Amino acid sequence: MDEFALIKRYFSDIGAIPELPALAQAIQEGIGNDCAILRIPPQFDLCLSIDTLVSGIHFLPDAPADRLAYRALAVNLSDLAAMGAQPLCFTLALTLPESNELWLQAFSRGLDRAARQYAIRLVGGDTTRGPLSITIQVQGVVTAGQGLRRSGAQKGDLICVTGVLGDANAALGILGKGNPAEWESYFLSRYYEPSPRLREGLALSGLATACIDVSDGLLADLAHILESSGCGAVIRDDAIPLSEALRGTAINPLTHALEGGDDYELCFTISESNLALLRDREPTLRFTEIGSIVSTPGLRRLNHRGEIMCINPVGYKHF
Ligand code: ADP
Ligand code: MG
Repeated sequence: MDEFALIKRYFSDIGAIPELPALAQAIQEGIGNDCAILRIPPQFDLCLSIDTLVSGIHFLPDAPADRLAYRALAVNLSDLAAMGAQPLCFTLALTLPESNELWLQAFSRGLDRAARQYAIRLVGGDTTRGPLSITIQVQGVVTAGQGLRRSGAQKGDLICVTGVLGDANAALGILGKGNPAEWESYFLSRYYEPSPRLREGLALSGLATACIDVSDGLLADLAHILESSGCGAVIRDDAIPLSEALRGTAINPLTHALEGGDDYELCFTISESNLALLRDREPTLRFTEIGSIVSTPGLRRLNHRGEIMCINPVGYKHF
């Protein structure tokens, strides 16, 4: 199959669902021209984010292609969520060692599954031959001026996280092993199918003072907020939300939750009064208060024995 037949067969209809949100009317042209064309309504700011997954660095070469595709889109959508943006469309740059139809079928299936779930259409891309790598760029919109940032945290704000932490990191020890036990399947799904917190991000815009998605680990990502905002934080070990599965199986669940990445939950800071407003407006959203912002720089943990520990966050760094 040549390059153009491949694009038509596997990528022309990704996320092209009838029930796309009204926002999708901004897409004037999708795949098939030299560029996609978007007409962004004037009340919006456009948000862009791009992520690359390289075989052997971000995933094992024999990782299941459908789950890999799902994850590749989901982690990009998580960046939109962290800014309070709504998804609009995405592009895909795919480098493949060979035209393997089975792999492409599975990849395209997984990509479409995520695209439909989050109502986002694929509008273009690039297909090249080389070592396997997957790059996705997402485009989303926020109401003009309302995009969440890392820089607005203030002394007295509460620190919250959505969902539970550490599960995706617990999956790393299981990846690539055949026939996972049932409880292992749970961790694998938390790794391969993270839930971008788009609904939460949208609800937070205009209320939260700062927000980030937890991709490198809670401590490392919270440290980014502190650095951008010029303040410090105290978090409580006993408040960190953990799943039953992690509590029941990990030797040190808290280490997975604090230092492990790949959760794609949101960590945000918010004033007490806005937190009350948020709970009022969105009673079904699941998030946990884990600490507060202080003026003294640095990140401190209050441990189970009531001792304060200063910490030096170490997240994953490529360089
Ligand atoms: P050009 O050489 O002008 O950049 P291409 O031949 O690379 O165009 O691509 C033809 C069309 O197919 C373009 O609309 C491009 O966006 C789209 N396309 C190419 N590869 C992909 C892909 N992997 N996923 C989605 N669209 C793709
Ligand atoms: Mg061209």
